[in-house]
Amino acid sequence: MWCKRALQGGEMCYKHQFYGIDSHRCVQMTPTLRCNQRCLFCWRSFEHEPQEDVECPPETILAGLHKYQKKALAGYNAVLDNTVTDERWQEAIDPKHIAISLSGEPTLYSQLPELIDRLHDNGYTTFLVSNGTNPEMLRRCNPLQMYISLDAPDRETYHAICRPQENYWDRIQESLRLLGTRRSAIRITLVKGLNDFAPEQYAAILQESGATFVEIKGYMYLGYSRNRLARENMPEHAEVRAFAEKVEAACDYRFKDENKLSRVVVLEHMT
Ligand code: SF4
Repeated sequence: MWCKRALQGGEMCYKHQFYGIDSHRCVQMTPTLRCNQRCLFCWRSFEHEPQEDVECPPETILAGLHKYQKKALAGYNAVLDNTVTDERWQEAIDPKHIAISLSGEPTLYSQLPELIDRLHDNGYTTFLVSNGTNPEMLRRCNPLQMYISLDAPDRETYHAICRPQENYWDRIQESLRLLGTRRSAIRITLVKGLNDFAPEQYAAILQESGATFVEIKGYMYLGYSRNRLARENMPEHAEVRAFAEKVEAACDYRFKDENKLSRVVVLEHMT
């Protein structure tokens, strides 16, 4: 949606505001559709999970990027749509940034470190978004920015919300502690009534991680999550902001920016 809005000269996603990523030059992709969690707020379907018997090598994924990005943008060609300038269209079909996320847990793809290196070799910048359950794999990956999700202040809430295949809580804490030495962000998806409590417990975990940024973002009632949660589970932006202020008061992170439309607040580590 943000990619198409940007193509038409409109607003860009909050990642443009926070980190300078141009939405129309950003490819959202995943190297695997598998996941080892069943988060209530996930927009993907668990009921129709594909069975992947064969992994694509990094070269195949790399070769498909331009082709499938162009296909995803079909109909927004400057010739077909006079709200799109030729300059933006040409930029969009020559993407510069790869967000490795979307649907599935990327660390379950066995060649993830090689894929990221190949993307950098070919001139792309990368964001890697992970649920943090695989610290060994994360240690081997060197994206421009590493994101790890923290969706609960404690083990019990984690199990209730993320419904992992195994007890990964300690592994997630281990992954979070990897973030202090690299450009990184922790993503907290705030679900009203489920994990929007104990800000000081979140703060203690954030403090120990030393991550560069913390994004506190309201849950969005989208995709298959609508079968598991209610519209009322979406916090208002003011509620996200109020929660972020309580977290900020309990650790060395300070308010950096916010985007009301996306209901997200970003905090930055004070060094
Ligand atoms: S970890 Fe990510 S992809 Fe997996 S279920 Fe949770 S939100 Fe969905």
